[in-house]
Amino acid sequence: MSYEEAGELDSPPTRWKERPIRHLTLTIAPLLLLVGCDAPERPPVTRGGAVYVVPMGDAPEAEVRRAVWALEAATRDSRVVRVVHVLPRTGIPLAARLPDGRYDAGVLLDTLLLVTPPDTFRVTGVASVPLSAVEHGPVIGYARRGERALLYSTQALPAFTTEAAHRRRVRRILTHELGHTHGASHCESHCVLAGISSTEGIELLADGYCPEHRALARSALGLGPGHPEFELRVGAERMRLGRWGEAADAYRLALEANPRDARIRTSLGVALMGHGEYLAAEQAFVEASGHAPDAPQPFYGRAVLHAVQETHRASAYLEAAVRRDGNARSAHRAAGILYQDLMANDQQAIRHYSAHLRLGGRDPIVLGRLVKLLAPTTLVIQEPELVIARWQPGHGLILASARPR
Ligand SMILES: [Zn+2]
Ligand SMILES: [Zn+2]
Repeated sequence: MSYEEAGELDSPPTRWKERPIRHLTLTIAPLLLLVGCDAPERPPVTRGGAVYVVPMGDAPEAEVRRAVWALEAATRDSRVVRVVHVLPRTGIPLAARLPDGRYDAGVLLDTLLLVTPPDTFRVTGVASVPLSAVEHGPVIGYARRGERALLYSTQALPAFTTEAAHRRRVRRILTHELGHTHGASHCESHCVLAGISSTEGIELLADGYCPEHRALARSALGLGPGHPEFELRVGAERMRLGRWGEAADAYRLALEANPRDARIRTSLGVALMGHGEYLAAEQAFVEASGHAPDAPQPFYGRAVLHAVQETHRASAYLEAAVRRDGNARSAHRAAGILYQDLMANDQQAIRHYSAHLRLGGRDPIVLGRLVKLLAPTTLVIQEPELVIARWQPGHGLILASARPR
């Protein structure tokens, strides 16, 4: 869930001081979206890493064996050495229990990612409790795109069936979820990655991937720990979990093959900042700018770094980032939020939110924050369309938009 989706419009600007780590994660999240990886400057050595299976709660042993069998086939690759291991059984954390009796699949994925060893290629949870995912409701299996954990539950699967049918179902579920870990969304073609909404849908899924997703899986299976592309994803995953030191290690590994990649170096700076290594973070941002003087990301990074340390230079770096940003609307949006939340500078926030609107931006978060800052005013934007935004205590933001005749 993003900071904005969390409905934090009511939060005071001092929130940062109360929850530094989470806030930092969320504030820097936009920087990470831009992290990419150019072609490696020297060919990396590839180990395949290990695939781990974690029995969770009361998951039956027979099911764990089916998962191992399916994963051995689905993660085999002729280019690397890779083994499937079963880790000790783990309990289902109470924190994952939802009011409706289901278990939050996202929380369980994080549990897996926190127990899995560093050489993990993928970690798979096998559960027997009903699962639910924030954006999907009840689910049978779950994985976050591009992260290493996947999970499924036997709870909704038919119990009385042949062993062959069991195995076929498990293989489809795991191949589907592995596809998400490789970075795929749901697929419209005849493909095991088609989106399904019921247990019966599993029976209708294809056994394998469409050509596009077969190619994606092939390239993902050829990677492993130490490979720069793999480490980039590990870095983003560890960053999301707030494991800053591990994220920094992953980015350093990714940099070995791409020492001049400014985006990876910026990510390293962000991880170091999260870890509290401010001098090293500054150094990383400066080096990133040295390789790519026009890139906005290192300047956003330095703006946050200096805002955290409450130096007077934060706004200069933020303005420098906005000037370099190719997307002016989103730049003004980000700058407004950083001014408001990190620097408690409402006047500058208003200036940037207004610039976002002047450029045609109609982001509801920007409108909502601007209306609240200007309260009790009702904000009316006449062009190019009529937008009326009003903040009503107890109701939140009321937005009306109409194109003029
Ligand atoms: Zn899916
Ligand atoms: Zn597909």
